[in-house]
Amino acid sequence: MTKKHDVRIDTKLLHPQLEHKLNLLLKKCAAKGIYLIITEGFRTVARQEELYAQGRTKPGKIVTNARGTSYSSQHMWGVAFDIAINDSKHTYDYALIKKVAEIAKAKGVGLGWGGDWKSFPDTPHFYLKRWGSTASKLKAQYGTPDRFKKTWTKKVTRRQGLKLWKSAAKTGSYFTIPCGAKVRILFFKLWYAKAEYNGKVGYINKKYIQ
Ligand SMILES: [Zn+2]
Repeated sequence: MTKKHDVRIDTKLLHPQLEHKLNLLLKKCAAKGIYLIITEGFRTVARQEELYAQGRTKPGKIVTNARGTSYSSQHMWGVAFDIAINDSKHTYDYALIKKVAEIAKAKGVGLGWGGDWKSFPDTPHFYLKRWGSTASKLKAQYGTPDRFKKTWTKKVTRRQGLKLWKSAAKTGSYFTIPCGAKVRILFFKLWYAKAEYNGKVGYINKKYIQ
């Protein structure tokens, strides 16, 4: 088995929280001696249509029921990625993928798993649970992926900059993020936003971002 992950997607195109959880998953899997290939992440309308055509108007077997034009795949919203095992003999080995799913679903990572779907199980598929197990809520709330993506980054509006705290209890900080800088937002809670800036994930006062 190759002792390395093979990330074939641009993780910056994923929702910042999913990117964070993917990194956690990769770390935890490596610690257990499991190495992954990340095969799919964000998909454009064109890419989703191409996949939809497969097994219908193009050769191959059907891999998705989601049309690109309907925004009905979680991949088009940047809230899902697909995995395989980085070992040519066990690429889609169910027992190994199930182990990965156990790590992914546990509290430290907290992802949803397509393998739990009753009607159309999708074992390589992992997603952010916040908007449910389909894209319906996202569609209802934001309309298009472009509008959703605008919520992923915010600008620091405080003139003297904004501290990136290491914990929500404000004990220790990484650095001060300059005014005008764009931060990637994982989520909002209480007084803060959990955010990423320059590779560090921490807590910032949500009053001072826009
Ligand atoms: Zn998928």
